[in-house]
Amino acid sequence: MKRSAVYLDYNATAPLLSEVSLAMEPFWHEPSANPSSIHEAGAHAAQTVRQARREAAAFLDAQEESEIVFTSGGTEGNNTVLRSALWTHGGRRRVVTTAVEHSSLLKPAQALQEEGVEVTYLPVTAEGELEKEKLNEALRKDAALVSVMMANNETGVRFPIEEIGKRVQEAGILFHVDAVQAAGKVPVSLRSLPVDFASFSAHKFGGPMGIGVLYVRKGTPFRPLLFGGSQEKGRRAGTENVAGIIGLGAACRKLREILPQMMDRMQRLRDSFEEKVFNAIAGVQINGCRDKRIPNTSNLAFEGVDSETLLILLDQEGIYASAGSACISGASEPSHVLKAMGFSEPRINSSVRFSFGTANTSEEVDRVVEALKRFVGQLRRA
Ligand code: PLP
Repeated sequence: MKRSAVYLDYNATAPLLSEVSLAMEPFWHEPSANPSSIHEAGAHAAQTVRQARREAAAFLDAQEESEIVFTSGGTEGNNTVLRSALWTHGGRRRVVTTAVEHSSLLKPAQALQEEGVEVTYLPVTAEGELEKEKLNEALRKDAALVSVMMANNETGVRFPIEEIGKRVQEAGILFHVDAVQAAGKVPVSLRSLPVDFASFSAHKFGGPMGIGVLYVRKGTPFRPLLFGGSQEKGRRAGTENVAGIIGLGAACRKLREILPQMMDRMQRLRDSFEEKVFNAIAGVQINGCRDKRIPNTSNLAFEGVDSETLLILLDQEGIYASAGSACISGASEPSHVLKAMGFSEPRINSSVRFSFGTANTSEEVDRVVEALKRFVGQLRRA
């Protein structure tokens, strides 16, 4: 990344926290061992993994450390839970989810449909909120799992997990939450939430890529996706990504300390950004219910502007944002989230996501607003 760049793409990935790279540093220089080896070096590696598990359990407020299963990230967690719930619920061949989940949940759900599983996609309102009566209708006994995200990666809109979880569990159905975009932006207390599974990804909160957590509440029936080793108490086979796990632990430790101030700071920056954009540019609308969003996300529609062109101009200016989710924007498909909210194609194609994080400043906000004013004017005149 250029030194002078303004990075407003934290929902795609959050740059590594300096405490995380410092914690990982020794791993690259000291001889490392397999945590399953019984010699002293192996025992040391296993101890490092235990320590990180403790940090993760504390950050996510899990009841027990054993509820933390290290995975390669959010995609693996989501895939694992879908398969696990169907396996452990024998006869049940139905899954309930929402139309606005991340592709790492929707694509495996579609693959299951090809295998004969019925999938119900709950609709959302124009504000991106869940249509709750539709949830009630979907909670029939034949469902093995309900999977709902805690916060949307494109709009930042939060779903009322506690309320949904209560209803799902009362109906005797397993409940999974994709909490990838919530962790590190709002407090997550798994102990007090009616949730059986939750997926997390370290690179969304200042840890390294390729490591995550799948939370499995104690006593929940579970079957692994990967077999072949007894790591993670037999719940996820494969030699542990020790460097990644160290980094994840360090990110959890740091966030426990700074999250309250960070949330405040992100919200002030995001809100002042939106206010300044509205004052400087006409014809801008927020996508997603304003007051129900995580504090760092701003998805804006710039009437009459092609978002791809706007993103290229911003990129040339050293300002990094994105349209929809990174995985989808690579394929240049219109956002399925904004589509599910019922927006017209022109509105979808004029929308840009700005996502803030720890390193952003108010000077950067001013620079971005000034650039947006210039480029939006230019594109509207063209
Ligand atoms: N779930 C959500 C809501 C996401 O935003 C993402 C990544 O963008 C994922 C899951 C996938 O996480 P990972 O990149 O760790 O596979």
